[in-house]
Amino acid sequence: MKEINDIDIKKLYKEACEKIPAGVNSPVRAFKSVNMDYPIFAKSANGSIITDIQDKKYIDYISSWGAMILGHSNKKVVQAISSILDGGFSYGLTTELEVALAQKITSLVKPIEMIRLTVSGTEATMTAIRLSRAYTNRAKILKFGGCYHGHSDSLLCDDIGSGVLTSGLLGSNGIPLQTSENTTTVKYGDIESVKKYLQTNEYACVIIEPIAANMGLVVPSKEFIQSLRKITTETNTLLIFDEVITGFRVALGGASLYFDVIPDLITLGKIIGGGFPLAAFGGKKEIMNMIAPSGDVYHAGTLSGSPIAVTAGLSTLEILEEERQSIYKTLQSKCSFFAGKAREYADKYGVAVNVAECASMFTIFFTDKKVCNLDDAKTSNLENYSKYFRSMLEAGVLLPMSQFEANFIAQSHTDEIIEQSSVAMKNAFKKLASE
Ligand SMILES: *Cc1c(COP(=O)(O)O)cnc(C)c1O
Repeated sequence: MKEINDIDIKKLYKEACEKIPAGVNSPVRAFKSVNMDYPIFAKSANGSIITDIQDKKYIDYISSWGAMILGHSNKKVVQAISSILDGGFSYGLTTELEVALAQKITSLVKPIEMIRLTVSGTEATMTAIRLSRAYTNRAKILKFGGCYHGHSDSLLCDDIGSGVLTSGLLGSNGIPLQTSENTTTVKYGDIESVKKYLQTNEYACVIIEPIAANMGLVVPSKEFIQSLRKITTETNTLLIFDEVITGFRVALGGASLYFDVIPDLITLGKIIGGGFPLAAFGGKKEIMNMIAPSGDVYHAGTLSGSPIAVTAGLSTLEILEEERQSIYKTLQSKCSFFAGKAREYADKYGVAVNVAECASMFTIFFTDKKVCNLDDAKTSNLENYSKYFRSMLEAGVLLPMSQFEANFIAQSHTDEIIEQSSVAMKNAFKKLASE
């Protein structure tokens, strides 16, 4: 096979850019924020190792933005998918598999009494919003700066996290004023503002990432989340936990279990598809039964509940459930070790950082400020992040290509891999301090 050199990659990127905007199908993949001339083109992945089209290998901490909690190409999941491929891919009909997944999720995530599957997290949050508006007969929604809830119109205005933030944008052009007027954004953690708005009794819902992972990782106080539940209940406003990242990540029961708070609706994604396009929204029966054709709130999808995606998700959740006694503890201790090393080396070499960690997620913010909201996150030195990112990449460690994303530890990250990554990290901090 012909070897692919840097010139070939540049050529491929040029071809990509001619036919695909910026050459990518999702913005952060362009690697612009870490000042790279062209993106990494992935070829394959196994365990925690990603191989690019030049056959360079990287230890992966993107983990498909959290979806791959078991690591890539988990053997049991591969077997499960392989065993059904000969039976067709999609029928436009209901399958037993969907019932099994619905039973599994409702048994593990208590606030979800009923569930609908979607293809993406964007659809899940979009439909949860629609449902909250129908249920309350109110138009306004409240969300928090730095959170990301997918790219539907009403959730894409003002201080959006993830790729929007990384691109240096606040939201998106192309959203009608009539839509954005109904969306209110307040500072993450600011309960007084929430109270002020909700007391107008005009709000259908409050949607939140109960642990925010799209402005880098920000873990709120339990009191804040509990106060949100209290004030939403008092004002008959629905509380939606967007657990597309935190679901099955921070605990088997997700963030609602972690905080011991029961929201009205929960959205899930990423992990529940095991790397396939699958997401969901669910919650109280009374609300969920408003979905058509039980009720008159419309939601549909040609590929919703794809048998292959459902099989991958189901087998992923089965593994997590079987190993529930050990897996979350092990993931957390690996994460703590790595986050601890970051603090140690930053201290040793005099680099200003604040390291946020929770369960198997962490973010090294290059700032001396503790990060509690988007304003704090924005005090980060992005040049330092970019330098750190590139040093790590040279050492064969692939981090999220943005300061404003979380690193995800997977089951496939062995102690040896973590150790190797922490050595790379030490050198990266040393280099950063000497520049
Ligand atoms: C990724 C993400 C979404 C959007 O999911 P997609 O499948 O990318 O549409 C929504 N909410 C949160 C919290 C996410 O992290």
